[in-house]
Amino acid sequence: MTEYDLIIVGGGPIGLACAIEAQKKNLRYLIIEKGAIVNSIFNYPLYMTFFSTAERLEIGDIPFNCLAPKPGRQEALEYYRNIHRYFNFNINLFEKVSEVKKQEDKSFKIVTDKNIYSCKNVIIATGFYDIPINMNIKGEELPKVRHYYKEAHEYAFRNVLVVGANNSSVDAALECWRKGANVTMVIRKNEINNRVKYWVKPDIENRIAEGSIKAYFESNLTEVRESEVEINTPDGKITIKNDFVLALTGYKPDLRFLENMGIELSNDELKIPTYNPETMETNVKGLFLAGVVCGGMQTHKWFIENSRIHANMIVDCITK
Ligand SMILES: Cc1cc2nc3c(=O)[nH]c(=O)nc-3n(C[C@H](O)[C@H](O)[C@H](O)COP(=O)(O)OP(=O)(O)OC[C@H]3O[C@@H](n4cnc5c(N)ncnc54)[C@H](O)[C@@H]3O)c2cc1C
Repeated sequence: MTEYDLIIVGGGPIGLACAIEAQKKNLRYLIIEKGAIVNSIFNYPLYMTFFSTAERLEIGDIPFNCLAPKPGRQEALEYYRNIHRYFNFNINLFEKVSEVKKQEDKSFKIVTDKNIYSCKNVIIATGFYDIPINMNIKGEELPKVRHYYKEAHEYAFRNVLVVGANNSSVDAALECWRKGANVTMVIRKNEINNRVKYWVKPDIENRIAEGSIKAYFESNLTEVRESEVEINTPDGKITIKNDFVLALTGYKPDLRFLENMGIELSNDELKIPTYNPETMETNVKGLFLAGVVCGGMQTHKWFIENSRIHANMIVDCITK
């Protein structure tokens, strides 16, 4: 069995950034990715626009050329594929890691659905986009309820309910309305989230103000049925006609996966993993965290822009 210096779990932008640093330091490394390269971005809405400008998504000092200041999904996929062409990573795609276990001799055993590996250090860069946060309401299991939004065409000329008021919900609501859907939003708070992209927020607020998109603030979706939904509003329960529910209520990292490898999580609802902010090493020696997974349930804390530096910090610590 090959003994690696480093195994990186997750081939998202930050996993790739870690591999670039490992390659520079001649470490024997392997990236194991359960899907396609940059699988989360591959699963983003087709016509999304990043809130970051292109240069802030760059890794390995390779320029990210795009015509507009902010790239879309397609350009990001192009960029990260080119990064792989350039660095020729040692990467296994479509292989899922199920277990990371520290051995008595201090090495790690990595179990996947295809193989077993041994390595001295591990980086977990598994992101948060694989597990939707459920609403836990009656009817959530119906096929018309979607936790991921891809594109608007399917929703044209239908009654669509969008749950949430963050970037994903607002983008989906506007796109569907522009393609002819009758859009209603259900929003828990009394306003659109302040983190919504600054050039998109006035758009949604104006569509709501003019009545093109109906929004129920301080309200909750309580039940989904085949052709209607029930909403709890400040004025009482209402029932409206419905064909599709876009429940864009956020995503969470696989916390059990982290706990099973011995990483301690904070006791509160944020479930922040324990790590040294200078090295990104967790409470398990030789086991590191990188990228958005570091935030636990605070999934907006880390993003590509501000977590690219984890790669440098970790590889510096490993090679010290
Ligand atoms: C719609 C949207 C727009 C965004 N826009 C921006 C932006 O403009 N700027 C910005 O900086 N950030 C943005 N973000 C956040 C950013 O995309 C993510 O922060 C980024 O993808 C994080 O990179 P990552 O490598 O940490 O995680 P991810 O990109 O999520 O990569 C994790 C990888 O790990 C893999 N994986 C998970 N579990 C396993 C396992 N058990 N075995 C093997 N592989 C596994 C996954 O398949 C995935 O490919 C956005 C996020 C979303 C959802």
